[in-house]
Amino acid sequence: MKSLGKFGDFGGIFVPETLMPALEQLERSFLKLKYDEKFSSDLNGLLRKYAGRPTPLSFCENLSKEFGCKIYLKREDLLHTGAHKINNAIGQALLAKRIGKKRLIAETGAGQHGVAVATAGARLNFKTDVYMGAKDIERQKLNVLRMKLLGANVIPVESGSKTLKDAINEALRDWTGSIKDTHYLLGSVLGPHPYPTMIKFFQSVIGKETKKQILEAEGKLPDLIVACVGGGSNAIGIFNEFIKDKSIKLAGVEAGGSGIESGKHASRFSDKKLGRCGVVHGTKTYVLQDKYGQIHNTYSVAAGLDYCAVGPEHSFLRQIKRVEYYYATDKEAVEAFKILSRQEGIIPALESAHAVAYALKIAKTMKRDGIIVINLSGRGDKDLDQIEEIL
Ligand SMILES: *Cc1c(COP(=O)(O)O)cnc(C)c1O
Repeated sequence: MKSLGKFGDFGGIFVPETLMPALEQLERSFLKLKYDEKFSSDLNGLLRKYAGRPTPLSFCENLSKEFGCKIYLKREDLLHTGAHKINNAIGQALLAKRIGKKRLIAETGAGQHGVAVATAGARLNFKTDVYMGAKDIERQKLNVLRMKLLGANVIPVESGSKTLKDAINEALRDWTGSIKDTHYLLGSVLGPHPYPTMIKFFQSVIGKETKKQILEAEGKLPDLIVACVGGGSNAIGIFNEFIKDKSIKLAGVEAGGSGIESGKHASRFSDKKLGRCGVVHGTKTYVLQDKYGQIHNTYSVAAGLDYCAVGPEHSFLRQIKRVEYYYATDKEAVEAFKILSRQEGIIPALESAHAVAYALKIAKTMKRDGIIVINLSGRGDKDLDQIEEIL
């Protein structure tokens, strides 16, 4: 392979040999199509006329007044299917089409990624199979119905804890035997090379638009950009364009769950005891693990942030101190969810509410003309049952 996909000490490829041909083919095709004019124009066409790009950058008039600096939201919540995940699903599905694959497989926890893949699969005429833990299928009835309506086959996984990590294992097992006609459509900047790099490429449209839009609105770049970090794809998507602008502070916000001391959270970077470097699902990165190196159970009110590992590039960006990582607890996220709904008329996804919570905390310490951009990764419709229970 041309590059081994390392981000400093992190990333790489840790997979059984049987998967190497598929990863090599994927890397080759990606490196070629990335600069292909026809591919770019097909992709841009779909993003514009199907997914709803460019998304607006909205100024929060009310919050800005109250919290004392200029607060903007990058509106990924307005995309088709309700979150940034569609950018990646369409990108990879189009790539798979160009390589001649006929079938998409994916794994999903809460079902959001499964819905994005089923959507791209329907639009681009794939047979789509989505692996999902039996327990998650029970908990996420609406998304299971969505996937079925979109023509995807939802395969229940009965092994292990019957949740996301078991679904990942099943999807990988499937791919080992089906790489000829099947593309494995991974959902975040995780897994073995080339996934983290390729998914960053498809999500970096967020930051490119943001830079143009903030320069148009303010005539200068922001002081702070905030995004929530599950696997880390919406965060890398908005950060990437600004990494070289050293004066801009970049902040990633993980799920603090019930608090770090409680052990019930998904904060790989803030928990000094459980969060350590390890290898999981094909990549080397920060992982929540016990003293024996077994994956530690994670928890968050936001299903999309509830994962044991973080994208390897985030581990690197933290090591070189280019991005700083914080966390917001369930309680802080729900509070931010309410504030944004009431003050700006925008109901955010609970994941995105973590970024809002941190941003509002910092806003009070900033100068009046300071500028914060929050990546609003998704909308909150999917979370209403949960919010009703909490309130
Ligand atoms: C899936 C999801 C996330 C977390 O994924 P990242 O890869 O960290 O971006 C965040 N927000 C929303 C709305 C999601 O659906």
